[in-house]
Amino acid sequence: MFGKQIGIDLGTVNVIVVVRGKGVVLNEPSVVAISLNDSRILAVGNEARAMLGRTPETIEVARPMRDGVIADYVVTEAMLRYFFSKICSRLERRPEVMISVPVGVTSVEGRAVRDAAIQAGARVAHLIPEPLAAALGADMPIGTPTGNMIVDIGGGASEAAVISMHGIVVSDSVRVAGEKMDEAITAYVRRKYNLMIGEQTAEQIKIAIGSALPLEEDLTMDVRGRDQVQGLPRTVTIASSEITDALAEPLATIATTVRSVLERTPPELASDIIDRGMVLAGGGALLRNMDQYLTKHTGVPANVAEEPMLCTAVGASRGLQHLPLLRRAVDTL
Ligand code: ADP
Ligand code: MG
Repeated sequence: MFGKQIGIDLGTVNVIVVVRGKGVVLNEPSVVAISLNDSRILAVGNEARAMLGRTPETIEVARPMRDGVIADYVVTEAMLRYFFSKICSRLERRPEVMISVPVGVTSVEGRAVRDAAIQAGARVAHLIPEPLAAALGADMPIGTPTGNMIVDIGGGASEAAVISMHGIVVSDSVRVAGEKMDEAITAYVRRKYNLMIGEQTAEQIKIAIGSALPLEEDLTMDVRGRDQVQGLPRTVTIASSEITDALAEPLATIATTVRSVLERTPPELASDIIDRGMVLAGGGALLRNMDQYLTKHTGVPANVAEEPMLCTAVGASRGLQHLPLLRRAVDTL
């Protein structure tokens, strides 16, 4: 009997786990709460995230992944162990896992991810470059000799890549994505209204009313924060058009990254991409009008994948079925 086969998207913001034959079994923030007095792990995932910005000094709420690689090995391992324990009963065989990692991770960074998975209970751990996983999860025909362009806008980084014959032909990434958008919103609200808002409020604004391009009808939202001058709580009403302004800079940086990949794409593949368009994945793809924004700034059609936040994990689990074909991309990591 074989153990479970599992695909894992170990993101900077979210960890998503797909069990082959079962679909998504876990989707939680990559956040861990640690007691600083005795280095004990107090909570992981959703439970830990609820503590962000709300803990006494003796508790640290940390994100063990940064820019897609492990920033804190011990905490990452503990987080994976906890997530594995949630999805595999102790009687089951240890799972075979495929974990997505950013393009261009060093062998040391790759080994750290693999070791953390094995220490946490995996039997074997393979690595797959994120764009390959995302494209597989988005049902793109990456095994054919055609140009397939995927743009993954996550929390910490945006990654663009052109894939053909199971291999990455051109790629580029930038450390500007969802979190930089939240920071841009925080800075805008502080500058314009003298109002301090938290990280989570900024993200809520982005999701509730944010748009990459102006909307036909502005959405509005009442936003609570602390007045910078008087120090007291205050509420202002913010419109989508303001968020579009606030996001101009991070969005332009993402568009530049996408363009740089298109500029380096061999002509035959570029011609395929112009015909089929690029596919957007990651949580940032859910920003209103993100697809139209990239079309406007690159001249190439863009389509949001069906479940943009799940693509990478789904693709990682599918990758386990294509191991021989992916071998070149998977094992050189
Ligand atoms: P990662 O792979 O880095 O963990 P994800 O692909 O899970 O990141 O995306 C997380 C990011 O997507 C967060 O910054 C979150 O704010 C953003 N996000 C989620 N939903 C939306 C939405 N509807 N609109 C805009 N951004 C969103
Ligand atoms: Mg991601």
